[in-house]
Amino acid sequence: MIRLKAVALLALATVSPLAIAAAAAPDTVPGNVRQTKPATYSFTVGDAKVTALSDGTVPLDLHQILRGAPTQTIDGLLARSFLSYHTEASINAYLIDFNGRRILVDVGAGELFGPGNGGRLLDALAAVGAAPETITDILITHVHTDHSGGLTKAGKIVFPRATVYAGGADVRFFSDVTNAAKSGLEKHFWTETEKTLTPYVTAGRVKSIDANGEILPGIRAELHPGHTPGTAFYTLTSKGQSLVFVGDLIHSAAVQFPRPDVTITFDVRQDEARAVRQAAFKRFARDRALIAAPHLPFPGVGHIAADGSGYRWYPIEQTDREEKGNRLKL
Ligand SMILES: [Zn+2]
Repeated sequence: MIRLKAVALLALATVSPLAIAAAAAPDTVPGNVRQTKPATYSFTVGDAKVTALSDGTVPLDLHQILRGAPTQTIDGLLARSFLSYHTEASINAYLIDFNGRRILVDVGAGELFGPGNGGRLLDALAAVGAAPETITDILITHVHTDHSGGLTKAGKIVFPRATVYAGGADVRFFSDVTNAAKSGLEKHFWTETEKTLTPYVTAGRVKSIDANGEILPGIRAELHPGHTPGTAFYTLTSKGQSLVFVGDLIHSAAVQFPRPDVTITFDVRQDEARAVRQAAFKRFARDRALIAAPHLPFPGVGHIAADGSGYRWYPIEQTDREEKGNRLKL
């Protein structure tokens, strides 16, 4: 989850705008431009074609939202990556064309973060010629607005033919507003679920996942409660190749790869989220797994390797050709 307004307001209340500008703009860091076209990037995993789709980016104040390490430590790790605590997070979604199905993994924030903050998924889908009515299945990693917000637009279902898969614990937790008071979390999680997921529940189009296993041919779901009660990883496997969609396992590469014990305020159960991240990084590094992470810089696809007491992120190489290994004639 990325929650924009609270973070921005908190930042303004505690740090002067000038201090933010100075900290956020070291002279080697390029400035911002609103992209005129949505970003997409396609690659293959066995017989599947996977397309990363950018829903946009949102500003995050890492001083306000990271937990478990002193501010100085966080600033030191950020400086090592040429970043400040005022950072920008990608919102990535993924399209899988495989076995005659057209599957989305997460759907971005939709309209719910306001203009200019996410909500570009439909433009990205149009750019690759994928009409919303051709989507057969949607795999929601967890029921937070930046992953399920795009399910509806102006209160209407955007993907009329799709079956929506989500962890059953999330569907139940975020559909019952009495859990707001019980958990101490802000009520907006529930009002947003009402706008986005509930129309699909009412239409009988949601399949709750309550056990690990294959949910579609070549796609396996694994439940990892922590970030939310029903957080799920989805693993696509074809011809010996795999890609794991990990949801909000990580928000800040600069901080949480070297320090996987650092959590974020959006982790509903902090201790479980920390344990899930530590175990998952260890496993992915050991298995040399390819992973897709919604909030790492677009396309958010790469490998994790052990590095000292922590880990490092290796983004995939970008290519623009079908053949492998042919040499450039010089
Ligand atoms: Zn998120």
